[in-house]
Amino acid sequence: MITNSQKNSIKIIPLGGLHEIGKNTCIFEYDDEILLLDAGLAFPTDEMHGINIVLPDITYLLENRHKIKGMIVTHGHEDHIGGIAYHLKQFDIPIIYGPRLAMVLLRDKLEEAGVLDRTNIKTVLPRDTVRIGQHFTVEFIRNTHSIADSFTIAIQTPLGTIIHSGDFKMDHTPVDGEKFDLQRLAEYGEKGVLCLLSDSTNAEVPGFTASEASVIPNLDRIFAQATGRIMVTTFASSVHRVNIVLQLAQKHKRKVAVVGRSMLNVIAHCRNLGYIKCPDDLFEPLKRVHSLPDEKAVILTTGSQGEPLAAMTRISKGEHPQIKIRRGDTIIFSANPIPGNTIAVVNTIDRLMMQGANVIYGRNQGIHVSGHGAQEDHKLMLALTKPKFFLPVHGEHRMLVQHSKTAQSLGVPPENMVIIDNGDIVELTHNEIKVAGQVPSGIELVDHAGIVHDVVMKERQQLAEDGIITVATAIDEGGKWLVPPEIHLRGVVTGVEHSLLNKMILRTLDKTLRDYWDQFNHEIGIDWTGLRLELDQSLQRLMKRELRSRPLLVFLMQSPEQKNEFAPTQSLIKPSPIRTKVKIKTSLDIPVNITEMNQPLEMNQPLEMNQPLEMNQPLEITQPLIKPSNSPARRRRRRSTASVAG
Ligand SMILES: [Zn+2]
Ligand SMILES: [Zn+2]
Repeated sequence: MITNSQKNSIKIIPLGGLHEIGKNTCIFEYDDEILLLDAGLAFPTDEMHGINIVLPDITYLLENRHKIKGMIVTHGHEDHIGGIAYHLKQFDIPIIYGPRLAMVLLRDKLEEAGVLDRTNIKTVLPRDTVRIGQHFTVEFIRNTHSIADSFTIAIQTPLGTIIHSGDFKMDHTPVDGEKFDLQRLAEYGEKGVLCLLSDSTNAEVPGFTASEASVIPNLDRIFAQATGRIMVTTFASSVHRVNIVLQLAQKHKRKVAVVGRSMLNVIAHCRNLGYIKCPDDLFEPLKRVHSLPDEKAVILTTGSQGEPLAAMTRISKGEHPQIKIRRGDTIIFSANPIPGNTIAVVNTIDRLMMQGANVIYGRNQGIHVSGHGAQEDHKLMLALTKPKFFLPVHGEHRMLVQHSKTAQSLGVPPENMVIIDNGDIVELTHNEIKVAGQVPSGIELVDHAGIVHDVVMKERQQLAEDGIITVATAIDEGGKWLVPPEIHLRGVVTGVEHSLLNKMILRTLDKTLRDYWDQFNHEIGIDWTGLRLELDQSLQRLMKRELRSRPLLVFLMQSPEQKNEFAPTQSLIKPSPIRTKVKIKTSLDIPVNITEMNQPLEMNQPLEMNQPLEMNQPLEITQPLIKPSNSPARRRRRRSTASVAG
């Protein structure tokens, strides 16, 4: 049954993309129909050890999967399409409409994940209109952004038209000649727009964002001046930039070797679709690039964010099998570091310079412009669409606030806009916009093996920050130690001498065993589990009392009933605070395209603490389990007076 309130309002529920840049996922709901707009991923923060990607909590979609009528995709960036394959493992999407480039990239991902049969991919062209469900009619409006083939979306609903800007800037001289369809926006504005949802990424930046074409003269000059090889690194998904580099190589009569799977993939698709036009003989296989004179070679590669496994990072470390830096190389970083990647990027630049390369980077070189509009772009969007209600999206909180101020400066009343967070249910009627509740809005962390449980995440944080103590013991049926308990510390820094700590642990175990043996030695048999827990807890209390750090404690005890295995009791002395809300979900096995990651992908050594260890498996952990962290916060935690144990 449809209530009046259901009929008179539309719900807009973003599951991601608010108070962050990433995992853009938005639900439009009317009556019993859901229309999805984009489903992206985000990249992990520093404390998310070993995590590859971050996804939104999709509890609400799972519970309402029967309502999902279809999805629209605005463009092919990871923060808009990177989550779709994961979601399709859990619910079907009847149909997905999107631009050609995004759809070929998406098809690859779904194929790789084995979920292509869970949906129906349909390509749309600018000004195409599609009906989704009974209540939504969607028009795709060409816009301009850093990737080719990007759309602003007009959704006609029973209550009026909602415009979603998608990611955009107002680029009046786009590299591919595909202009922003401002006329169409203006027509919608003329007819009346109920609500505008608009990209807030550069809401704090005054003025207009410069055209992509503005980087051409600067890159051209660098190409003209370079006497040796030229290496350019940028995002593979910055299709226009890649195109510019290829055009300049052609102009300066250089051949291009392309490095990095995502770069090769995007170039191949863009050439097929006609977004990049260049002759086949412009390209030279990497293995043959050495046969070219230096002044005839361009190497185009991923790694602009200092990602550990990307080609440019490996080149800088001298670890790339085919490319070694030579004096006279010119290396261009044609992308700005995403916040959080800055240290990795500057380290890469330092290493390249130390080997004699001329590295060109930084904001004042004119070799990079943003793909997102600034305040004047936002004003133009608002002026053309003239929305009654306004919802700033795609940005961190301060960006949303600033964007709402910009909207107010154009006459949208403050009561006609809301600044929302992920999971907020925005209820939109003819007369009102308000937050009417919340749906679950946490995050799911995915590593190479699947969704990461919050307990595992806490353990990783403890391991990384305070190390691990393992204590292995064996007890006979008479309540005697079979062998002296073995203690190992890895990555543990304490104010207590190692030898003293060992003594304290042995004394505690001994005392606990003596005190509690009778209690657990019943007539019907020995309660080994109870004894193990008691010993474990006594160690925990000791650690808490004596150590100033909070290492992960793993207590292993072999008893006669467990002849062939140790049964570990694993406990967290006191879990470190974790900022993320994490949900447990079934394991997913979707391959992650590692070359597109912004964050380190190198896995920490998996530590299978939940499995009993085999007796013949040495207990000593010989591999360092923790990668030393460079973060200043963690450096501060190290105490100079402390002794290093283990
Ligand atoms: Zn984008
Ligand atoms: Zn985006």
